[in-house]
Amino acid sequence: MDFRPVPLFLLSAWAASALLAQPPVPQAILGEETLRISDHVWAIMGWPNVAIVVGNKATLVVDTGLGPRNGATIARIAKRLAPNNPKLYLTTTHYHPEHASGEAGFPPGTILIRNAAQQRQMDEDGRAMVERFAKITPLWTELLADAPLRTPDITFDNELKLDLGGGVTARLLWFGGAHTMGDELTFVEPDRTLVSGDVVQNKFFPLINANGGTPASWLAVLDKIAALNVLHVLPDHSAPGDGSLVASEKKFISELRSRAMELKASGVSAEDAGKRLGPEFKTKYPDYPNLNDNNVTGFVKHVYAE
Ligand SMILES: [Zn+2]
Repeated sequence: MDFRPVPLFLLSAWAASALLAQPPVPQAILGEETLRISDHVWAIMGWPNVAIVVGNKATLVVDTGLGPRNGATIARIAKRLAPNNPKLYLTTTHYHPEHASGEAGFPPGTILIRNAAQQRQMDEDGRAMVERFAKITPLWTELLADAPLRTPDITFDNELKLDLGGGVTARLLWFGGAHTMGDELTFVEPDRTLVSGDVVQNKFFPLINANGGTPASWLAVLDKIAALNVLHVLPDHSAPGDGSLVASEKKFISELRSRAMELKASGVSAEDAGKRLGPEFKTKYPDYPNLNDNNVTGFVKHVYAE
């Protein structure tokens, strides 16, 4: 693997996974093992974690992995979990390449769905982002060599409810901007399982993309999620957990936002506030692998800009 230094803006997006601290780029090839999250939801744990939701008429996959080779792996597992389901739906948590560039690996007839805000970001920045990622290592160049980004079959504004059969429904939800402007949430009933993307993580510092939401909009999204009464959470870049992750995410963002606002009110620059809050939060939250001065300063700047 190539160890060329990775641009910071990219590193911050994955420095997250403790396992992946060395070497500096994530292991982008998904395996074939699955972890059962709830009655109707399985996960392939990797970069990113991918959800497979199984009803008795249709299967829904959330996220594609990096490039079509990973997409094909996921499609194979989905088929293995439900060999007789005639319908395969695919949606993506956001437009970043490890979540959305593997669509071409899925079989013909796969129904691609995405919220309109996410599709706008895909149209504006999707291709450029794939090209940036393709320069990072030779393996990624290969994975992304032929990764067409096709137009979804269905787009929706705020909510789309999919009946997967056998009483299983998936509510695809857009609650507003957080990590990106187009963050999509999938809530599976009756399991009460939330496939949360970057919006609810498990001990993972919240990263707001340059074209993402604000700390305030992220908190507003979390309030809407809290009303769902979630039982299980599958995040994209951290370990699965129970519904308490929703409140933990809100607590973390609220605390950091409040501290940043205090420092702003007392005339401290965003840069200095970041330097102060980095160590402060590292002490308070020692088990967040991607909690570092760089990411804290980035977040603080978003608070200052609100
Ligand atoms: Zn992302």
